[in-house]
Amino acid sequence: MEIGSIGIVGAGQMGNGIAHVCALAGYDVVLTDVSQDALDAATALIAANMDRQVSREKIAQAERDAAMGRIRATMTLADAGGTDLVIEAATERETVKQAIFEDLLPHLKPNTILTSNTSSISITRLASRTDRPEKFMGFHFMNPVPVMQLVELIRGIATDEETYQACRGVVDRLEKTAATAEDFPAFIVNRILMPMINEAVYTLYEGVGTVTSIDTSLKLGANHPMGPLALADFIGLDTCLAIMNVLHDGLADTKYRPCPLLVKYVEAGWLGRKSQRGFYDYRGEGEPVPTR
Ligand code: NAD
Repeated sequence: MEIGSIGIVGAGQMGNGIAHVCALAGYDVVLTDVSQDALDAATALIAANMDRQVSREKIAQAERDAAMGRIRATMTLADAGGTDLVIEAATERETVKQAIFEDLLPHLKPNTILTSNTSSISITRLASRTDRPEKFMGFHFMNPVPVMQLVELIRGIATDEETYQACRGVVDRLEKTAATAEDFPAFIVNRILMPMINEAVYTLYEGVGTVTSIDTSLKLGANHPMGPLALADFIGLDTCLAIMNVLHDGLADTKYRPCPLLVKYVEAGWLGRKSQRGFYDYRGEGEPVPTR
């Protein structure tokens, strides 16, 4: 099935990045959100990010203008239903996502493929609430979308081959790389990454190392571009905790229990970069300062 238009639901951090790369790849994009402010902010951010690509000579001015012209931002969810592929990238709450798919159903074309960018919610369960579980799958971009090369494609138990191949074709046209995952808690990237981050927090909690020694060890000892605690701050400590809880609940194995220190940081509202404080304090002018 040929995909020409893409509906994106949710214009936050991920939705704006997805709209950016899809428009540049030539797709007609309908970007929707319940908040006009979020739509305005997303459109301004996409324009600014594309301007930066023009100034760095990554894309031509004409490409930028054409791509911006392909993005339609609207608060009318139904408009996204008329596209060939819907990528849902709204808030990570199952009830929110279920309500979106329910509201979309009457407006879909018979062939519209439904996907979710969820980091952790069961694709099979989301699909089962729609009229087309065979045309439903996970389309999991990484943050920031224009920079990160990977897209995880997650098959629900009912996803058919045609749907999978159509989504693979989109990943190819975006010039990204697909990795295929089965629908088990947190899929591949977060199944491996989050326990590593959680273990780094345990290493801090037990006093084996300081924030600096732990991050330096992984950067220089394992050649990671960023230490695990700095990465946790970048992702958001609430998100890290939510994914550990999904692994713990979904796989029922104590090896996934969230570190009490991670829980404490989240309880304090120290969520990482987005709240200016996490394992590092970002409130000063200079380099971030470790908080332990
Ligand atoms: P975000 O909070 O930045 O954006 C969510 C947007 O969804 C907001 O603009 C909000 O107004 C909108 N929204 C809420 N309810 C809606 C509704 N009913 N209809 C339409 N829009 C609605 O969140 P985000 O970080 O962009 O995450 C979005 C999704 O992407 C989540 O499922 C998340 O798990 C997933 N994800 C996030 C990351 C990440 O690093 N942030 C990475 C991969 C996947």
